Amino acid sequence: MVCTLYGIVFDMKKGSVDLICDVAELISVFDAEKKDQDILQSVVSTVAWHMRAAVCSIYIYEEERRELVLRATQGLRPEAVGTVRLALGEGITGRAVQELRPICVGKASQSALNCPFPGIEEEKYEAFLAVPILRGLRRIGALVVQDGVANYFGANDTKALRAIAAQLASVIETVRMLDEVHGETEGSSRVLAPKKSVHEGILRGRSASAGTARGRALTLGSSQSDRCLLPDAAGTPHTLEDFEKAVERTVTQINQLQRQTGEELADVAVLIFSAHLLILEDEQFSGRIIKRIEDGTPAVKAISVVVNEYAEVFASSKMPLVREKILDIKDLGNRLLRNLLNEEADECDYKGQIIIAHELLPSDILKLSAENVEGFIVSSGVTSHNAIICRSLRIPMMAVAREVADGIPEGEELLVDATQGIIYLQPGEEVYAKYRKLDATWEALHKASDVKPETRTQCGERVQIFANINLLSDLEPARRFKAEGVGLYRSEFPFIVRNDFPGEEEQYDIYKKLVNQVAGKSVTFRTLDIGGDKMLSYYSNVHEANPFLGMRAIRFSLQNKEIFCHQLRAFLRAGAEGNTRIMFPLISSVDDFEAARDIVHECMDQLEKEGIPFCRDTQLGVMMELPSAVEVAEELAQEADFLSIGSNDLIQYMLAVDRTNEQVSKLYLAHHPAILRSMNRIVSAARTFGKDVSICGDLSADPHMLKFLLGIGLRKFSIDIINAPAIQRSVQETTLAQTQKIAETMLGFGRISEVEAFLETLG
Ligand code: PEP
Ligand code: MG
Repeated sequence: MVCTLYGIVFDMKKGSVDLICDVAELISVFDAEKKDQDILQSVVSTVAWHMRAAVCSIYIYEEERRELVLRATQGLRPEAVGTVRLALGEGITGRAVQELRPICVGKASQSALNCPFPGIEEEKYEAFLAVPILRGLRRIGALVVQDGVANYFGANDTKALRAIAAQLASVIETVRMLDEVHGETEGSSRVLAPKKSVHEGILRGRSASAGTARGRALTLGSSQSDRCLLPDAAGTPHTLEDFEKAVERTVTQINQLQRQTGEELADVAVLIFSAHLLILEDEQFSGRIIKRIEDGTPAVKAISVVVNEYAEVFASSKMPLVREKILDIKDLGNRLLRNLLNEEADECDYKGQIIIAHELLPSDILKLSAENVEGFIVSSGVTSHNAIICRSLRIPMMAVAREVADGIPEGEELLVDATQGIIYLQPGEEVYAKYRKLDATWEALHKASDVKPETRTQCGERVQIFANINLLSDLEPARRFKAEGVGLYRSEFPFIVRNDFPGEEEQYDIYKKLVNQVAGKSVTFRTLDIGGDKMLSYYSNVHEANPFLGMRAIRFSLQNKEIFCHQLRAFLRAGAEGNTRIMFPLISSVDDFEAARDIVHECMDQLEKEGIPFCRDTQLGVMMELPSAVEVAEELAQEADFLSIGSNDLIQYMLAVDRTNEQVSKLYLAHHPAILRSMNRIVSAARTFGKDVSICGDLSADPHMLKFLLGIGLRKFSIDIINAPAIQRSVQETTLAQTQKIAETMLGFGRISEVEAFLETLG
């Protein structure tokens, strides 16, 4: 597809259109009169984010001094802003501005032009693309992107940056003009003034749940966080009565916390604080404290000592379930102490703290979220259920290497940009200010109110956007973002956070709430998908060498018929109250599907006999996420009522690339010809047999893949609903004819490199 923007002709390519539109939107909301609106900083952050570039910077050209000065950066040290100056012609940037042309260098270290600025860690970046910002032939500045991966930028990136540079010229002129009006000279202007910064450093990692978190580092598992600390008041006398009152207050607070969490997270919060209460009610626990107090130990010290004794016993346990309770006992101890000392209960929570942990359990995430934690930095791989829970709770989470996590000092002030994967240690005011603006900008760009209830292509074809729901609390954003229904309900979360398998009634209550809350819109329940990296702590009796290839999803359900039947009965009963379907994950053969379907029919017969209302014509579908299922797609389409492409797993299994393993993440390619052809085959099979087909994996959030999917005939997309505005915009900007052509071309390639070259030409 070809389009013209700001006089530049584009072939549409991955990300570029969105990037240019976002920057155009940023610029259009720029209010020149508002001096505090740091538009350039927002632009560099937006460009870096879209291009997945480690660095994006804007330099402004000072004509009198014939120098370029760094004005805004995402990725270089913030204190470099206003201090880094380049003579015209100096380095790659200086040369690009001098010669009025973009310069793209694949390996900066080998380029004669390269001249990295000392002290800002620029030498780490090999790929370098500098585009001059011009007004006619007049030099205004430069827009620069850098990345650690050599040859990272291509011809299309140059085109995209040129389009943005063209838009930026007038904004920069306005900013400069305002500075002059306000009596500031160019050399010492507000725009260019060196910033004072206490910024100490930047660490990098991978985003697991996007967002920005601010707070102090608290490492779980460190001697400080796992212990109940002895307050200064250790010697203060407190009576036994004081201790008993503290226990009473603690019980009330925990019950209150449990109730409140239960209201907000009805499906998963059940008894997450039960361990606290159980320990508190344990006579041995309180008995030991009472005995010490009676023996003359000050109450504060008695509590700390006993709590720490328990923590040590838990820590040395061979049973993972017991080891998991360290956080609970320590929280409980701190709460007791605060109540004894009559301190604010709020002080017991995790507000203002960013948890650094090697491993986290989903139930810990829920507890810490109820106690107002700001964000997480995890140093082992991020399991998909932890990432999904954090995304649903809208808590930022980042994955970093173990050494990175270990290097963060306890109590350090942090700003975690879990969207771009950056951790700022001791961020200065300018970093905070930048992120305040960035957050506001992102909010403005992703406003739910911009979503229309109906989505159509430019040529009028109807497309449906559904929500992927993980927790019931996701229903509120689904409503706000006008989801047309629930395309995937991941039913495993109520299972993951409990201490035992939830029974039929408990599940029925959850599913009924879901069905009632979507008020007539369709809901596709997925049966339990545990195994792989989604383990149940109470079902770890099977140790598997390759859990992703083991007792996962439908295999677990078929082997544990009783658990499967409880869930199916609960689904079928909830279906009596609405418009629901059931689908099975990880189906590898028609036989798997038939076995699952037979059990559904058995459950229906039982319910009928028992006189319990349920939905007899519930449609039954297959999640297409295994290569073997693709090979029998026609037979599956014939047998099932609908197919849903689980692209997250389809890519993993088709390419044999672990979706949670960072080391092979570059091989996890949605545009691999095998994936493209598989998806086409699935859609064709469904169409041949007149069956409904949709996709519920994350890949439709990629604008190019979305076009491909439209081109092969998909019209139903189930997504993390926060992506709805962007997906709707992409659909509206395209015609079916364009998408069909794109799909046809992409399907003709046998090599990844050919697909990539084609995507490059798309612009
Ligand atoms: C998928 O595999 O694409 C999918 C939607 O399921 P999950 O991410 O829960 O495995
Ligand atoms: Mg899957």
